[in-house]
Amino acid sequence: MNTITLDAKVLAELREGEKAYPIYGVKVRWSETYPPGAEQRMFRAGDPPLPEGRFWNSAGWDSMEKEDRDPEVIAAELMRDWWPKYTAKLLEPADVTITVTLKRRDVWCDGWFSHYTFDVGMSDADVIASFERYVERILYSDLSENERGSLLMGAEDQWRWHGCVDGNPQGERTEAPCRCPKCKDQGLVRIDH
Ligand SMILES: [Zn+2]
Repeated sequence: MNTITLDAKVLAELREGEKAYPIYGVKVRWSETYPPGAEQRMFRAGDPPLPEGRFWNSAGWDSMEKEDRDPEVIAAELMRDWWPKYTAKLLEPADVTITVTLKRRDVWCDGWFSHYTFDVGMSDADVIASFERYVERILYSDLSENERGSLLMGAEDQWRWHGCVDGNPQGERTEAPCRCPKCKDQGLVRIDH
C-alpha cells in the first residue's frame, strides 16, 4: 500500500474541525482444538505443524487511536484485556501472537461494513461531508482494487449509509451518522453501510 502518498493527501485535504488519526493494523494468530464434528481446515504451507485435532486460526482489524502510541503497548493491552474474553468460546486456545503495526493516518477508520471517527463536535452535515471526502480519497487513490475494497466495504454506495438506534447496526436504523448511546459512550461517530 502506498501509505506515504495517501497520508500526504489526507493532510492536504483536512478541513476545519477534521483531524487525521493514526490507524493501527491488528493481527492475531493462535492455535485451537476443533469443536466436535467441525470440518477440518486445509493446512496452509508455512504454518508450523500442530498435533492432530488442532488448527491455526486468526483475526484482524484496523484500530484508530487519538494519539500516536507504541504498537507493542497496544498489543500488550489487547493480550491482557481482549484476549481472555475472546477465548471464552474457543477450545484450548494456545500459541497466541498479537502483532500491531501503524498502517496509515486518516480521519476515518474502517470496521466491519462500518466506519468511525472520534466525535470532536462536528455537525451531522460536516460529518457526512467529511466521510464523502474520505470515500473519494480512497476511490481515487493509487491503492490496489483489493485494498480499496477492504477499506470501503461498500461505503461508495451512499444510499447504504445509516446509523442505528441502540448500538446494533442490524437493528432499527437512523439516518447517518450514528449518534446512538454506544457511540456516545465510546466518544465516536459512526457510519454503517
Ligand atoms: Zn452508534
